[in-house]
Amino acid sequence: MESPYTFAIVTCGVPYWGRPFRDAEKILKEKNRSLHASWYVRLVSNYIPYRDIAAEWRISIRAWLARRKLKNIANVINTREAHTTWQLLKNFCGRYHDKWLAGQKKIDNNFLCDKDKCTACGMCERICPRENIKRPEGQPVWQHKCVECLGCLHICPVKAINYGEITRSRKRYRHSEVKPAELLRKS
Ligand code: SF4
Ligand code: SF4
Repeated sequence: MESPYTFAIVTCGVPYWGRPFRDAEKILKEKNRSLHASWYVRLVSNYIPYRDIAAEWRISIRAWLARRKLKNIANVINTREAHTTWQLLKNFCGRYHDKWLAGQKKIDNNFLCDKDKCTACGMCERICPRENIKRPEGQPVWQHKCVECLGCLHICPVKAINYGEITRSRKRYRHSEVKPAELLRKS
């Protein structure tokens, strides 16, 4: 049976790391499906342990480029055309990804919570896509299955969460058109 038209769109800050399309193809193959079209849509890198959030003007340009790209993507999808995204440094990035996976259980040891700032609002727990945060006494406790999306750090309304000391002085980011409530799991 022919696989129904299937596409993948990956948002990213830097489009070179990981191997999302190769992994998507693998998952689809297990279900006898194929990936017909794939794209990166570059937005703003929120990985502040590495670098602070970009300046406002840069964010505006990224948003404009992303909107333009999404319009083109929509046209391709509407006509069910194929589209391949070539990933630069795919093998190198794949190996980096494997290394990251091997150390995944230790990644969230880097998170810190300032107990004197935390108001126990629970937003960090509700945003986590991995259900990796429990709050037995109000403050977050990470459960070692983190995917480093940094959603918990950026959503905290009082900046109580840091990833090592380096993020204390760095900005937090959320797309201006996305409200916190849209990101939170219903409790
Ligand atoms: S989001 Fe911030 S203030 Fe709210 S529970 Fe988590 S760490 Fe505490
Ligand atoms: S970084 Fe993302 S996956 Fe990790 S604990 Fe925070 S919200 Fe969950």
